[in-house]
Amino acid sequence: MTEEQTVSLVDVLEEDEELEEEASAVLGGSDSDHCSYPQGYVKRQALYACNTCTPKGGEAAGVCLACSYKCHEGHDLFELYTKRNFRCDCGNKKFRDLQCKLYPEKDDSNSLNTYSHNFFGLYCTCSRPYPDPDDQEEDEMIQCVICEDWLHGRHLGCPVPDCVELQEMICEACMTRNPLLWAYAPHLDVPGAEVQVKEEAGGSKTNRLQKTEKADDVIRPTCKRRREEAELEPSCKLKALQATGRTGDQSGAAFWPSGWRSKLCTCGACKERLSEGGVAFLLDESDTVLAYENKGKNQEMQPAGHDPLMSALDNLNRVQQLEIIHGYNDMKSELKDFLQRFAAEGKVVTSDDIRQFFEQQQSRKRRRVDAQQLYRP
Ligand SMILES: [Zn+2]
Ligand SMILES: [Zn+2]
Ligand SMILES: [Zn+2]
Ligand SMILES: [Zn+2]
Ligand SMILES: [Zn+2]
Ligand SMILES: [Zn+2]
Repeated sequence: MTEEQTVSLVDVLEEDEELEEEASAVLGGSDSDHCSYPQGYVKRQALYACNTCTPKGGEAAGVCLACSYKCHEGHDLFELYTKRNFRCDCGNKKFRDLQCKLYPEKDDSNSLNTYSHNFFGLYCTCSRPYPDPDDQEEDEMIQCVICEDWLHGRHLGCPVPDCVELQEMICEACMTRNPLLWAYAPHLDVPGAEVQVKEEAGGSKTNRLQKTEKADDVIRPTCKRRREEAELEPSCKLKALQATGRTGDQSGAAFWPSGWRSKLCTCGACKERLSEGGVAFLLDESDTVLAYENKGKNQEMQPAGHDPLMSALDNLNRVQQLEIIHGYNDMKSELKDFLQRFAAEGKVVTSDDIRQFFEQQQSRKRRRVDAQQLYRP
C-alpha cells in the first residue's frame, strides 16, 4: 500500500459526511449536527441523558442527538432511544457548569418535557439499570408506547408474543390509567394462538387471554358529559365493542397489532376521553416509532436498497440503528486520527495496523453489546 492510498483512505472518510447524513435520515431525521432546541418540542427524536452532568439525586434532563456528540463527548450517557414531545435541555439551568456548544440561548427549563427514571438510567417497574450487572437472566426490554418506559418481558404481567417488534405494547399501569383501552383489548389485542408463553421461575403460565373475568362496564363515566357525546353515541365504535360483552382479563400489559390505532373510535366523546388521559396521540399514526423511521427513510435521497450500508440499516431495528450510528461516529473520528498519523509520518498502513486499531476499539467499547435484545415497540 502506498502513501497516496493511505491519504485517499482519509479522503474517503472525509467524503463520507454525505453518507453519514443519509444514515441520520434513516434514523428518523434526528440531526447529528444541529441541536434540535430551535424546533421546540420535537414530535419524536433520539434522546440521551447525561450521568456526568445531571446524575441521580439531581434534576433530570435530556439532550438531543447532536448535543450528545458535541457537548457531552466522553461523558457517561444513557441512551433513551426515542421520546415524543421533548425539547433539548442541554446547557439549561439543570446543568451547573456545562454550556451548550450548539445552541446556548436556551430558556431555563422546558416546562412541557416529561421525565422518568429512564433519565437516570433506570428502567421498568423494577427500576433497574440496563444492562443490569446483578441480573444474569436473558430477557428482552420492550418500550411502552404511552409512558415510553422500557419494561422487562418478564415484568409485563402477560406473555410476550412472537414478532414482538411488529407490535405496540401498552404497559399495565398505562392501561389502568386509560381504562377505555381495556374495551378494545379483547378485539384488537394480539391473538392468544400466536402467544408464546415465557416462563419465569415461580411465575404463572396462565394466558390472560383465556381468562374471562367479566366486568359490567369498563368505561368509567367522565365528569363532563358533553353534548356531542349524545349526538355521536349511535356511531361510537367503542360502545359497539362493549355491547359484545367481551371484556377480557384487564390485567397485565396489552400488545397491539400494527394499524390498531386506526381502529380506535374517533367520535367526540372518545376523543375527549383520550385527551383527558393525555393519550390523544394514540389517534395519530404518525406518532408511532414506525412512522418516525419511515419519515427518515423518505428524507433519504438515494432509492432504498441502493446502498449496501443503507440496506443493512433498513434491516435493523431502531435500537440497532442508533447503536451503529453512534458507534460509527465515534469510530470514524478515531480511525481518521489513526490514519492521519500514518499519513503525517509517511508510513504505510498495513492490515495488521487496521486489525490492531479495531482490537483497541473493541476493548474500549462501552456500548451495550446486547442491544439486539432491545426491541422497539
Ligand atoms: Zn440539543
Ligand atoms: Zn454531559
Ligand atoms: Zn448542547
Ligand atoms: Zn423489570
Ligand atoms: Zn406505560
Ligand atoms: Zn366513540
